[in-house]
Amino acid sequence: MSSKLSSMSSTNLSFISLESGDTAAQAKSTGAGFGALGTRSAPMSIVREAARRLIYRMGVLSLYHRVRNRRTLTVVAFHRILRRGDPRWETALPPWTLFEDTFDDCLEFFKRHYKVATLDDVKASIKATRPLPSRSLLVTFDDGFADNLNYALPLLRKHRLSATIFISSNVVGCEERLWTEDLLWAFTTGQIGQRELCGLNTLLFGDKAGGPDDPNLIWNIVRRGPELDQAQVHAALSKLQIDLHRIVLQRQMLTHDEIAELAANAISIGAHGKTHTALPFASDVAAELSSPRAALADIVAAHGQHSIDALSFLHGAYTPNIVEQALAAGYTLLFTSETELSVLKNGFLSNPVIGRLDVDDRRIAPAGKFRPDVLATSLFTAARRARPAPHRALRDHDRRIGLREVPIAPQTGDQGVGGRTVCYRSGAESIDATT
Ligand SMILES: [Zn+2]
Repeated sequence: MSSKLSSMSSTNLSFISLESGDTAAQAKSTGAGFGALGTRSAPMSIVREAARRLIYRMGVLSLYHRVRNRRTLTVVAFHRILRRGDPRWETALPPWTLFEDTFDDCLEFFKRHYKVATLDDVKASIKATRPLPSRSLLVTFDDGFADNLNYALPLLRKHRLSATIFISSNVVGCEERLWTEDLLWAFTTGQIGQRELCGLNTLLFGDKAGGPDDPNLIWNIVRRGPELDQAQVHAALSKLQIDLHRIVLQRQMLTHDEIAELAANAISIGAHGKTHTALPFASDVAAELSSPRAALADIVAAHGQHSIDALSFLHGAYTPNIVEQALAAGYTLLFTSETELSVLKNGFLSNPVIGRLDVDDRRIAPAGKFRPDVLATSLFTAARRARPAPHRALRDHDRRIGLREVPIAPQTGDQGVGGRTVCYRSGAESIDATT
């Protein structure tokens, strides 16, 4: 069973992979040769790897990047940073967890090839008050893991760089991480199988669709499960005799005081929902949008950040309606998991919806050794997207509020999953379980 997930994951989780369809398609469409160095189906040959290393070392990739991406904003997404030997490695999910030294190498790489921006810089760009410089890059983290303070902050300070951490308000101070991530870990390590997932899916959601062979079952539960009542979850797990062996080890999630410490050290704080449920599935979208704004704003207010007005979509999932609700709730920047660079016009963003490139440890540091050529190929050749300005209604809305904070009003939750979902990444195609 674990091999099945492993196979599925290699497709699902390769957001910044050289082998990503977006990248390959972009390279093909632009005539760029670097993206064509990898293919989706075949492992990269030794010759291709050697060629890529050589191209990087010769500075060709860097030159290509300087020309091709001079008018783009790159946003990279991390989740966890752990030191070798940290007990939290025992249950960490490898795609989204980097060794401390790999992250150090990433930051050095970013400084070499980009102008690292702050969240305020990006806000100024969308407000058209200050342009972003050429080849800007924003460093982001999702979820609110305590290791962001333990290991990422010291390295960010060492390199004198800023970052933005998107936090789910319900996990603040939690000893355990989300039960759905423990479930994902148990599944990836083969401790539970598809049959148990099928039973759990039926008990939790009443879904009869999809049998034990449905590879989307795990993602369905991971995306929809966080908002469920804990007693309901425990009852279902108990009935199926599933023991997740929830491991606390060191505390997993950031506390109130730790978030304040991050904010005091020039780390911007953004929202990542209330429960971490994918918004198209959430039973109360308004609460998912408003709760983190209120809870986190109180924490960072004393440290120079006056509002929480950037949001990263849970699991990268959203609909046009959710975008409208998020803007109406006061968010000015909305980060997705779409593997794309944002094209700037004279240094300004035209649309508040911004793609991000997930940094997958397995690809940039196979065998634990950082591969700058792999990261360079993935980032430098990623698809570029010039999103049009929001439609008229949104433009009118933006003009009214000047893309600034507005009072949060109760809204009707949007559960139109199947209807106008345009950017929802479904099932085995590409779902990010932790963003
Ligand atoms: Zn997340």
